[in-house]
Order: sequence, then C-alpha cells, then structure tokens
Amino acid sequence: MKQNESNEKLKISRRNFLRTVGVAGATAASAGLFLSMASTRTDTGPNSKLDDTHPFAPWYKKFDQHYDGRKMRRWNEENRNLMMPLALQAGEIHDNRPALEKSIRDAMGTVTRSFGSNAGLSTGNGGLYSWEPLGITSPPKQRWEGSSEEAAMILKRFSHDCGAVDTGITLLDERLVHSHWYENDSESGEIIISDTAEKPQQLPDGTRLIPSSMKYVIVQLCSMPYDMIQTSTSTIATGAANLGYSMMAFVTPPLAEFIRGLGWQAIPAGASTVSVIPLAIAAGLGEYGRNGLLINPEYGPRVRITTVITDLPLATDNIMKFGVQNFCESCMACAENCPAQAIPYGSMTWEGNSVSNNHGAYKWYIDATRCHMFEASNGGPCSNCIRTCAYNKPPGFWTHDPFGLRVASILGGNIMAKMDELMGYGRVLSQEDFWRKKSRG
Ligand code: SF4
Ligand code: SF4
Repeated sequence: MKQNESNEKLKISRRNFLRTVGVAGATAASAGLFLSMASTRTDTGPNSKLDDTHPFAPWYKKFDQHYDGRKMRRWNEENRNLMMPLALQAGEIHDNRPALEKSIRDAMGTVTRSFGSNAGLSTGNGGLYSWEPLGITSPPKQRWEGSSEEAAMILKRFSHDCGAVDTGITLLDERLVHSHWYENDSESGEIIISDTAEKPQQLPDGTRLIPSSMKYVIVQLCSMPYDMIQTSTSTIATGAANLGYSMMAFVTPPLAEFIRGLGWQAIPAGASTVSVIPLAIAAGLGEYGRNGLLINPEYGPRVRITTVITDLPLATDNIMKFGVQNFCESCMACAENCPAQAIPYGSMTWEGNSVSNNHGAYKWYIDATRCHMFEASNGGPCSNCIRTCAYNKPPGFWTHDPFGLRVASILGGNIMAKMDELMGYGRVLSQEDFWRKKSRG
C-alpha cells in the first residue's frame, strides 16, 4: 500500500471509528468473549510434535547456506549480476545519508560487529560464536550434575539475566540442522551430526561435526525496541535489527561459556547452523506467521532468535498455540504493507517462489529475492512486516496478556487489522518524532 493511501485511510471520522469499535464489540459479545477468562495460549502437551503444528513433507531437504539470499551473489553469476549493482547502490545511499541516520544504524551494531562475532552470527564458529571454548570460564574439577528440570531452570534464569526476553528448550531435530555452511568459496563445508566425534569441531576441509550426544537446543529471544521498528523503512529501524544482533552476542556466547564452565559441551550457534524459527516453535516460544517470522505472544515478530546446542540434559518445553495461523488467514496487514510485495496473500503452501526458500514445510513463504532486492534499493533492510503486524504492540499492551490474546483471536485478523489501522498502530513514526518521543520499550 502506498504511504499516502495509508495516511489517507487513517484520517477517519469519529463516527467511522465508533462504528468499527461497535462492530468489533458486537462480534466479541456474540462470541461469548466476556463469559470466559480462560487463556487462549494452549500448552499442546508433552507428546505434541513440531509436525503437528508445522508439518514437513517427506521430500523436505535440510537448508544449504549456499542458497542464503545474501550469500548467493558470491557464487552465482546470475544472482551477482542482479544484486551487486543494487548492493553498490545501497552502500552509496547509506554513505550519503545525514550523520544522525547513518550513525544510529551503524552504532547499534557495535557489539555484533566487534570481536568477529558478526561473521560468527551468519556462518557460525567465529569470534564470540566459536565452537571452541573462549576460556572465560574454565573446566570445573567436577562436572555439575543435576536433574534435567533443575538444569533447565538454571539456564533459563541465566539467559533471562543476560537480557533474553524469553527462553525455551527443545530437542535438536536433525532436519533443522543446515546441510552446509557457506561464507565464500574457500570457507564452506558440510555440517554432520556425528556418532564418533567427541567434541564439536571443524575439520581442515571445512566439515563441521556436531556430536550426536549434543541433542538439546536452548532457544533465546532478544527483543528490538518498539519505537525504532515503527520508523521502518528508515535506517533507525535497521539500527533496531543491528541492536538485536548485538543483544544476541550478549545472551548466547555467555550462555555457552556458562555451560562449558559447568563441565558440559556447548555450541553458540546463534542464528547460524540451524533453522531457528521452527526450533523456536518447537521450544514453545510462538507460532509461524504470514510474514515468515516467529510470532511470540508478548513481542509478536519483534524478536531476534538465537540458539545454543548442548549435551547437558535439559527438560524440554511444550509447543504453545494461541491462534496465530487462523488469525493470519484473515489478516493481510504485513502483505499489504510490504514494499517489495514479497509476502503472500493466499493460504500456506509446501513450496515458495524463491531458490532461497527452504521448501518442504507447510507455511507462508516469503519471496526472499524480492525482499533482498528491496533491501538493496532501500539502502538497508526494512521492518515493515514487523511494524505493521497486529501482534507487534508496545510492552504492556492489552493483547499481550492471556485475556487479550483471547480477545484478539475471537475478533480475528480482519477486525484486529482494521482496528489497528484506525487507531494508528503500525503507522510510520517519523524520524523527528522518534527522537522527541519517550521510549515505549
Ligand atoms: S522485510 Fe520488508 S521487503 Fe522484506 S518481506 Fe518484510 S516487509 Fe517485505
Ligand atoms: S500482520 Fe497480520 S497476517 Fe501478517 S503476520 Fe502479523 S498477524 Fe499475521
């Protein structure tokens, strides 16, 4: 949707607003909304499987990082010819921006771009994300032992105090481990789950081995500031993404180092090595949305996902459902506001349009090529699919609590998206207003 059209729609009369709220109220009342205070966030129980909520086809293949949208241009000539001019243009746009716009985007990435951890984030096994112990903690004289419940409780406490806004635990599903990692033609290799390797390691030919004993994944969520995202597609919103990556470096390498200090093995995988969204779903942290992102009940899609793989036995979390997929069926806010028109308007499918998609899971597929082309021409990524999502609200907003989630699911995506539009949620926050406004978290 064009911005001026969007703004025009926001200029509503008091009568229209009251009419919409009245319709919503009547719908809610007829649905028996106020008769039940039960939470709509459903624990699907210990026997539920990822495939029950996020099914995979028999022909599904593990993701090969060669096909990552941003890496393809390094080996695929067609992609290079298409993307490189746009990437150069993006760099030029960014370099010529006013200092305030340019500096916030770059400075928010200070932590992630230092210590080699930016490379560690995208391909793994580098900088703070090294598969080798960093030596900050040292191996104990006696390994810490405790029940799996106690271990899970301790790691979640540690993760929270480092800055993760939510943490879940699941088993390492081999289908969600990438088949290959790729940085460039001389830095790449297979990723193998090995029954014989005693520790996580990278062989001289680039092959990475994960011992099969390392079967637990801790999934951590780092939130991005609400107001920064509301400025999308500006560089301030790109700064929010960079801050999210910096926060990942705060929560994941220390958690891995903590586990190593207890005498167990840990890979700070971050957002590399594994497919983080389905793992987050399996760890009970949310559901899959039309925008191709994890939707967390408290933060919506406004999170970065990061992971640690370990052999420390941990109690796992149950999958949670709170109605996102039904909601997204009738809400099109992200698709309508995607400047690249990369988000589908239809139902979920088994395959996407782009070679960069990981086909074979039943979900909504974003056209990654279109998304990356917009990124290149915009001078940086956008966050419109986070900004305009009905589940993205400031902390403390009524839709985050169990009753609010129930209200949202009963009203449905169509009405909620309409109410959002009328009330101005998802509207672009100007850069001037951003600096003047008190932070909403
Ligand atoms: S990041 Fe922007 S261009 Fe990409 S899918 Fe989201 S809204 Fe569309
Ligand atoms: S904007 Fe609407 S359709 Fe898109 S992910 Fe959010 S709730 Fe789903």
